[in-house]
Amino acid sequence: MGRFFSPSQKSLAKESFAQAEKLAGQFFRLSSESLRSHRYDIRTLAYLEKHEVNETAFAHLCKYQYQNENTDEAGFHFYRICLQDNCILDAIDRAGSFIKLSPLMLYIAVHELTHVIRFDSGLVDFDAPLEVKREEEERVNRITREMLRAVRFPDLNMVFECFSKDYQIGEIYN
Ligand SMILES: [Zn+2]
Repeated sequence: MGRFFSPSQKSLAKESFAQAEKLAGQFFRLSSESLRSHRYDIRTLAYLEKHEVNETAFAHLCKYQYQNENTDEAGFHFYRICLQDNCILDAIDRAGSFIKLSPLMLYIAVHELTHVIRFDSGLVDFDAPLEVKREEEERVNRITREMLRAVRFPDLNMVFECFSKDYQIGEIYN
C-alpha cells in the first residue's frame, strides 16, 4: 500500500478504458448500446474497500448486486474493476525504462473489459471453480493479445512479453 496514481495517471487510466471500449466494441461486434448494457465502474486504489485490495494483481474484478431497498424493482448487478495502483507502478519501476504506463494500462483495460463482457454474456460463470477460472484467464489473455494486435501502439509488445501472466480474477460476489 501507499502508492497511488497521480491525477494525470488517473486520467490516463480513464482514457485507456475509453480506448479499450472502442476496441472491444469492434472485436465483439457490439453496438454502443449493448456495450453500455455491461455495467462496470473503475476504481483506483485510494477508493477501494479493504476486500477489493489485492496485493498480487494489477487489477481485481468484483461483482456486486445492487438492490434498492425502497422499491420492489428488480435490482441489477455490476462489475467493479479495482485498479491496484501500487502493483502497476511497482511493475513499471521494475521494468526500468522499458515499460511505460500507457501501454500497460491499455493492456489492463482491454483484459478487464474482456472479462466483464464474457462474464456478463454468460460465456463463463463468475463463480466458476478455480480450475475453470484459470482456463478462462488464459483465454482472456489470448483474446487480449488478439484484440491489441490490430492496434499500433508504442511498446505494446514489451507488455505482452513481460506481463501477460500477472493476473488474477477476483472471487468476490456481494
Ligand atoms: Zn484476468
